[in-house]
Amino acid sequence: MTNYLKLEFLSLPENQAFARDAVAAFCIPLNPTLSQLSDVKTAVSEAVTNCTVHAYRGKQGIVTVECSVNGDELHITISDEGSGIADVDKAVQPFFTTLPSDERSGMGFTIMQTFMDEFSVHSCEGKGTRVDMVKHFVSEVENA
Ligand code: ATP
Ligand code: MG
Repeated sequence: MTNYLKLEFLSLPENQAFARDAVAAFCIPLNPTLSQLSDVKTAVSEAVTNCTVHAYRGKQGIVTVECSVNGDELHITISDEGSGIADVDKAVQPFFTTLPSDERSGMGFTIMQTFMDEFSVHSCEGKGTRVDMVKHFVSEVENA
């Protein structure tokens, strides 16, 4: 590990932009392209929003974002101690949402999975949820 960041904040909607921008700033030394930066910001926003909207629905709790750099990889863990998810396999399916009445589209996990290179969810009902994601910052020239 060559760098590490840990953020803890209340699950208020106004903290979502702060978390997203802090993670974006943290990965600048990896020389991301604008598209890579946008992918990371979108994935972080989706995961943090889920903590506010689902994990602590109607209440407030702590959201933890941990980032580490390992070579050209950015590892991000976003966790809460909220409601947890009854069936993770079902929750990660595109268009699955438990809040259709709030006009949720059920695409947050699918977006995280698509925009990041590695993605997994661990959850325990009544205890909380942890989303682990990895982005590989291979330069576009190397990638071609
Ligand atoms: P969208 O993200 O498109 O607004 P959504 O949040 O319902 O809609 P996902 O982000 O894919 O869709 O999440 C799918 C479902 O997984 C949610 O509807 C919710 O039931 C559950 N879920 C996701 N994150 C959490 C969490 N941190 N705690 C508890 N439940 C969660
Ligand atoms: Mg969501």
